[in-house]
Amino acid sequence: MSSRRWMQGCAGHIDGQVAPISILSVEQMICAGGVQPVTITAKGKVIELGVTDRCFTGQQRRAVTLRDGGCIIPGCQSPAAWAEIHHVIPYALGGPTEVSNGVTLCWFHHRTVHRSGWQIRMVDGVPQVKAPVWLDGFQRWHVATKSPTRMTYQLADQQMQRDQRDQRDELRHRRTG
Ligand SMILES: [Zn+2]
Ligand SMILES: [Zn+2]
Repeated sequence: MSSRRWMQGCAGHIDGQVAPISILSVEQMICAGGVQPVTITAKGKVIELGVTDRCFTGQQRRAVTLRDGGCIIPGCQSPAAWAEIHHVIPYALGGPTEVSNGVTLCWFHHRTVHRSGWQIRMVDGVPQVKAPVWLDGFQRWHVATKSPTRMTYQLADQQMQRDQRDQRDELRHRRTG
């Protein structure tokens, strides 16, 4: 039985909690990697124990979080520490639980990304996002990263360009002044 069929049940359950949770939350948790599906018949017999390798390991999580530097949806300010790892190609469709198929999303965007119209793809191991039509009529893909390491490079690059411009300006002033 596929996880999709499993999710067509009516509700989910979290260990230690009496109240069932919605299927939406279940889907999100499956993607974030905290769930092992167990299918139980009406008589209470376990007929399927799902695999758990859809869970990203701590090492993979750290790598993805470092690469993305937090939720990859543009403008989202959620701290990286709150992030969940999303399978770009869903696990249920054969997407591997690998760094090259995982991106960082905050809880809110993870909860809504499956339906909100944001699209995510990986190009050479780097995530790109496309906004929903109502936000970007041109439907362009953008490289998505807030990685502190890559930002540092960008800042250093900008600083270098500024320095060079200042030097040029100074020379010009000296000549004209
Ligand atoms: Zn997801
Ligand atoms: Zn977010």
